[in-house]
Amino acid sequence: MADFKKIVEENYDFLVETRKHFHRHPELSSQEFETAAFIKRHLDEWHIPYETTGVSDIVATIQGDSGGKTIALRGDIDALPITEATGVDFASQNPGVMHACGHDTHATFMLGAAKVLKDLKKEIRGTVKIIFQEGEEIGAGARKLLETNILDDVDSIVGIHNAADKDLGVFSLNYGVMSSYGSGVRLTIERDDAHRGNVLLAAADLVNTITTLTTQRVPGRDQAVLVPTVVKSENADCGLAKKVTIHLNFRTLDLADSKILDEVSDAVAAGIGSSHDVKVSVFHYEPGKAINNDKESTDRAVRVIERLYGKDAVQWGRPMMGGEDFSLYQEKIPGVFISLGGVTDGVYRPQHTDKTLVDEKILAYGLEFYLNYVFEYLNEN
Ligand SMILES: [Zn+2]
Repeated sequence: MADFKKIVEENYDFLVETRKHFHRHPELSSQEFETAAFIKRHLDEWHIPYETTGVSDIVATIQGDSGGKTIALRGDIDALPITEATGVDFASQNPGVMHACGHDTHATFMLGAAKVLKDLKKEIRGTVKIIFQEGEEIGAGARKLLETNILDDVDSIVGIHNAADKDLGVFSLNYGVMSSYGSGVRLTIERDDAHRGNVLLAAADLVNTITTLTTQRVPGRDQAVLVPTVVKSENADCGLAKKVTIHLNFRTLDLADSKILDEVSDAVAAGIGSSHDVKVSVFHYEPGKAINNDKESTDRAVRVIERLYGKDAVQWGRPMMGGEDFSLYQEKIPGVFISLGGVTDGVYRPQHTDKTLVDEKILAYGLEFYLNYVFEYLNEN
């Protein structure tokens, strides 16, 4: 088998430069025009075929010389509407946009994998599909890809997310649910000719009652977070607001729990509406899926990590209470999602801030893992 450590070392400068390029030129979700053009230029140069969909979803295909299974690697490529304040010399040159979730490293893992795997075609038993995914932050990219048949032949999928708040080279994962199920409601409270109540008082009452009853109903053994994310009043009329909009966001680790907010909101809305003499309507957002790592893929990932970096490199993580559209792939394709530590300068930074930064050494860990995982999977019987 090829010496992946050496191959990664030989390509390390390319990885670092590529990451800096992506980091300097971040683009918002589903607007990744230049990012996609940059990726395609490289794929063209390397004569790697690819398919596209949506705004900038790209799937490169590397077919091995002998037949076999198909595995997909997934990296998302979008950035966030944040003004960068890291102070690094490769900081964002696009005002108000920043790779504050480290997807510049994910895009680099994918481009690095494409570059290396195209030279290993002779040794590949099967096919590798490399996904450069648009719009993760807005839940758009995976959905668009899954509406096409581009991934219909994929037997297994793997993805890594960087973690700026975890030690460099630590791989965090777990069996089963690894991110939360999301649900949400938008409550609209209005006064009109028939309803003369105070919408702000009604809004306060609604938020209190819904949050109390929802959290009350979550079984004690379960984990859940309920957050009001938006409160907006409109149309002040002689000093009185005519309309208030409230968004509530609910995250749970149990699918059954994720329905509680919807049920409570429906049950409470009418009662509070009539007691305050306002009109209350409830809009239910489409529920978000949780990342769900299947046992076989998780076992394989752990085997590869331990072989490469030893037992201590595996950290059994607790599920994060955020969302990830990698979960949509896993509804159709068994796979594993892993969080890879990339703390830099000893400062543990959260994702999605103007100072979020990941150490460039994560590029070597990520690519080496992907290469080893691909061959581990394709060489299994
Ligand atoms: Zn992210």
